[in-house]
Amino acid sequence: MWFEEISKTDPEIFGFVKDELARQRDGLEMIPSENFTSLAVMQAVGSVLTNKYSEGYPGKRYYGGNQVIDSVERIAIERAKKLFAVPHANVQPYSGSPANLAVYLAVCKPGDTICGQSLAEGGHLTHGAKTSMSGQIFNSVQYGVREDGYMDIEGARKIILESRPKLVWVGSTAYAREFPFREISEIADEVGAYVAADISHVSGLVVGGAHPSPVPYAHIVMTTTHKTLRGPRGAMIMVTDKGIKKDPGLAEKIDKTVFPGLQGGPHDHVTAGIAIALLEASRPEFSKYAAQVVKNAKALAKGLVSRNITLVTGGTDNHMVLVDLTSFGKGKGVFAQEALDLVGITANRNAVPRDQAPPFYPSGLRLGTPALTTRGMKEPEMEQAAGMIADVIEKVSAYELPDDKDARIAALKRFRSDIKADNDLKLIKSRVVELASKFPLYQGMQS
Ligand SMILES: *Cc1c(COP(=O)(O)O)cnc(C)c1O
Repeated sequence: MWFEEISKTDPEIFGFVKDELARQRDGLEMIPSENFTSLAVMQAVGSVLTNKYSEGYPGKRYYGGNQVIDSVERIAIERAKKLFAVPHANVQPYSGSPANLAVYLAVCKPGDTICGQSLAEGGHLTHGAKTSMSGQIFNSVQYGVREDGYMDIEGARKIILESRPKLVWVGSTAYAREFPFREISEIADEVGAYVAADISHVSGLVVGGAHPSPVPYAHIVMTTTHKTLRGPRGAMIMVTDKGIKKDPGLAEKIDKTVFPGLQGGPHDHVTAGIAIALLEASRPEFSKYAAQVVKNAKALAKGLVSRNITLVTGGTDNHMVLVDLTSFGKGKGVFAQEALDLVGITANRNAVPRDQAPPFYPSGLRLGTPALTTRGMKEPEMEQAAGMIADVIEKVSAYELPDDKDARIAALKRFRSDIKADNDLKLIKSRVVELASKFPLYQGMQS
């Protein structure tokens, strides 16, 4: 039995682990940044490697007893280099956000100008948003998307040429089209900026051949390991040949910034999980997976459009679909997200380009196919999912979100009690459970 020791030691946490397993099994996980790791990856993360301290790098550790850990980290590094075709990889960052901070501090000083895609228009917090340290300790200038939802390359060009940033980010967290690695890098090159490609969302597609690679264009490539790459929670920073050509000391700068600059001991159990995920991602089955993720996203998009639901840019090139709910009124994302949650479809509300609603109550919805594709679902299931999502959206589209705060709280309260009692939604939930049960998840784990 899985989790046997947790159940003996801490029945309370055991109960929650079981509940979460049941939630993941019975629902449709459609948050585009989530996935299901293999059992091999999960076992590595639950292994004895969690006990070791290994500050430093292979062959250069501060503590003894790292012979085995050195081998694990070396394998992870070699696999990353080979898979992404880069000359240098650091696999120690704890997660994507600290990895991005390391990228900044390797090539910038506080106060320097940096440029990234704005959070409101699809970029990540760490690309210079004002609520993130990246927008506070650096002078952040931002580009975004055009009215039609596609990247505003001309706008980016203007901003980059005018402000001459030291570092330019390319790579999004909410963008359903091909990431413009070449276009943004060419502009950054004109002003001699470093280009960091943040491929957290699409790295699995990149190694699977379902999305172009940023490696020919960027100097630095950062990816989380737990999204489409399907590894444990973690991150990697890679340096490209172009990066080393620009700055022969770049790889060393990155390594020194990660440790001792920002972190202490690496999470060796995670490093082992990353190594395993990279091995899995190098196999032909993974390329099939990556291609299917995109096919599934296209099928999902088609299904939604056939139900007259508007999508930002009208469709998708990657693993993600951005639904624009503004035709129903502004600020409808929260209703859609909560009603979907109730029926077991997990998604997140998201801003749409030129959103008139407040950031916490945006007018869109972000959906993705990586996790469902891992479960083995294909186009027919995406059509079914699209139908259920459309049913839910239609059901809640008439709810209004008042501007006044007290009225808003009251309206949300009413909405929540309405949907809980709604029989149509209960029916949809049973359809969700039925669909999910046909694609078993973590068979053998007790729930
Ligand atoms: C997810 C993500 C990150 C941050 O990763 P965390 O592990 O959540 O810190 C950074 N950049 C992009 C583009 C992401 O999608």
